[in-house]
Amino acid sequence: MAVGGIHGNEPAGAFALARVIEQLESGPSLMRGDVLALAGNLAALAAGKRFIDEDLNRRFARRPIDEGVAEDAQRQELLSALDDAFAKARGPVILLDLHTTSGEGAPFGVFADTMVSRNFARRFPVPLVLGLEEQLVGTLVDFVGLEGYVAVGFEGGQHDDPNSVDNLETIVWMALAELGLVTRPADADRRSLEQVVAGAPRLLEVTYRHEVADEDDFSMLPGFRSFQLVEREQVVAEDVRGSVRAPKDGFLLMPLYQKQGNDGFFLVQKVWVFWLWLSAALRYARAGRIVHWLPGVDRVDGDQHRVLVRRHVARWYSLQFLHLLGFRRLEESGDALLMQRRAHDLP
Ligand SMILES: [Zn+2]
Repeated sequence: MAVGGIHGNEPAGAFALARVIEQLESGPSLMRGDVLALAGNLAALAAGKRFIDEDLNRRFARRPIDEGVAEDAQRQELLSALDDAFAKARGPVILLDLHTTSGEGAPFGVFADTMVSRNFARRFPVPLVLGLEEQLVGTLVDFVGLEGYVAVGFEGGQHDDPNSVDNLETIVWMALAELGLVTRPADADRRSLEQVVAGAPRLLEVTYRHEVADEDDFSMLPGFRSFQLVEREQVVAEDVRGSVRAPKDGFLLMPLYQKQGNDGFFLVQKVWVFWLWLSAALRYARAGRIVHWLPGVDRVDGDQHRVLVRRHVARWYSLQFLHLLGFRRLEESGDALLMQRRAHDLP
């Protein structure tokens, strides 16, 4: 399953899917499986805006419709199409959510860090960014991942760049080939993606999110792009309070060059592949089940998926270590950190 245009000013994903479907309909039939392509926020796509009332990709949850929010009706339509597909699925379900960014930069992938989604995402030769889903609440990728399916989001490039449609189309074909749905060899697609992302690190994690409010009058300085290195204290934007500086060294991700949206920019840093390996080893050994044996870590109400970490006791192993084990941060207040293990982590 693939969704394009959950943000209405990002039609590239919907265009890419239209191309794929057209070729599938006119060419040889699928080797196996089914393909479902959905346009995300129809009302916002028609208006050419990120959203009408609220960001649909921050409201994805099973909850009652708010009649005053256009996106809730869109969500309900999408959700019933997805539920219908989940019910009819004859095998594993994989979701691709296709996006573009307001700034320039190489394509990349994001996913809720379950082993099943991670294993799938690693088949694509694009940078993968960990930890974005922890910063953003209510995304489609996170929602579908938590329902127990493989879900990966892809950013294809700049909104209006025709190459973004090509990149996203290539990603969809690669996914179909990797899953054995089509016979198209994946090599050429792989090489073309490798060329597009040349120079960008392979694996990264989010270290900072610059949140903006509408009244901030946030404005990125021109010329920044994703995966550009910035230094601590470097001025990257301006707002009502003056200069906005990078709080640390890192690679810039998704600098905001549009009016709608609450993420000014992110900073990401390289992750050593060793940590991924260690994390996989710990998770397959089901180390998360005994994490409450550590000092300063307690289960919440006997729930094996939720732990409360007292950070002054659990200094060195708190957040990063629990990430390795597949926990995500839910809430933090003062010394207490509430974390939840993602369900459906292992195949
Ligand atoms: Zn988007």
